[in-house]
Amino acid sequence: MSVKLEIQELNKDFEKVKALKNVSLKVEPGELFGFIGPDGAGKTTLFRLITSLLLPTSGSISVDGLDCVSDFKKIRNLTGYMPGRFSLYLDLTVEENLNFYASIFKTSLKENYHLIKDIYEQIEPFKKRKAGDLSGGMKQKLALSCALIHKPKLLILDEPTTGVDAVSRKEFWELLKKMQKTGITILVSTPYMDEASLCDRVALMQKGEIMAVDTPEIIVNSYAGRLWEVKTNNMFALLSNLNEINDDIRLIFRFGETVHFTTTKLEEDTVSTLVASSLKEKGHENIVVKKTVAQIEDCFLALMEE
Ligand code: ADP
Ligand code: MG
Repeated sequence: MSVKLEIQELNKDFEKVKALKNVSLKVEPGELFGFIGPDGAGKTTLFRLITSLLLPTSGSISVDGLDCVSDFKKIRNLTGYMPGRFSLYLDLTVEENLNFYASIFKTSLKENYHLIKDIYEQIEPFKKRKAGDLSGGMKQKLALSCALIHKPKLLILDEPTTGVDAVSRKEFWELLKKMQKTGITILVSTPYMDEASLCDRVALMQKGEIMAVDTPEIIVNSYAGRLWEVKTNNMFALLSNLNEINDDIRLIFRFGETVHFTTTKLEEDTVSTLVASSLKEKGHENIVVKKTVAQIEDCFLALMEE
């Protein structure tokens, strides 16, 4: 019951920006596929094109063998779309929102209750509450229920976890994994790099371009160069001081409580001594330099530099 998505040389130009540049991609039936990228990457534009809310400037998209432009009505019927700002009617209650979305697709909450049962049960105690009065996590669950109510084969979720607390984010991904087992194909976008590892495959996007498409494991394992993390008592000066040590110390950026950098040419055994002694000369104390393994964020930044 799941569907395949095929995008070929897709371009979308707005007046001032090329929002998508020559995007080609295949998503296999039943995949949980992530589009990872910051604001302006083109994630929402891509989803609007797939759901035929926008027309491409050039290129093509097919969903289950149907063309996004000529077969848009059929595609809309087999697609569930949860837009970025959740598109709920805030003046309507939880129950009224669901009934409204069900009626658009000529079905009813009763008829398809089993499809959303797991998710809806969590918000059902609040079914008489206006959507506008729900917490972020509950809004997200209601929006997901609305997107699922007509039994879509392709589910498209635009930044479903943005602005949602960490616990709800985790729960939400667990729900997606569970839903995936029913055979549905899921496309999800997120600006959170750490969510990449929860997808079967991801596309890393930046300024309208796809920089890499693969499983998260393959992307992190193919990181080119040696990656290091440093910590000192003066994190403020660390970025610029690291920059002054050696030309081979590149891709220096803040990573949580540490700073990451990459080397390719320097002898591996010499790096930590070189860095530690140079930083000490510049007045740093409590210096810790150690090798570390790349995460998606490192790969993203390295790809951006290419
Ligand atoms: P993302 O969802 O990854 O943040 P978007 O698809 O919203 O990215 O935006 C990609 C680029 O296209 C941005 O530069 C944005 O300003 C531009 N853009 C998006 N929608 C429109 C529009 N309707 N008109 C003009 N420019 C747009
Ligand atoms: Mg967006």
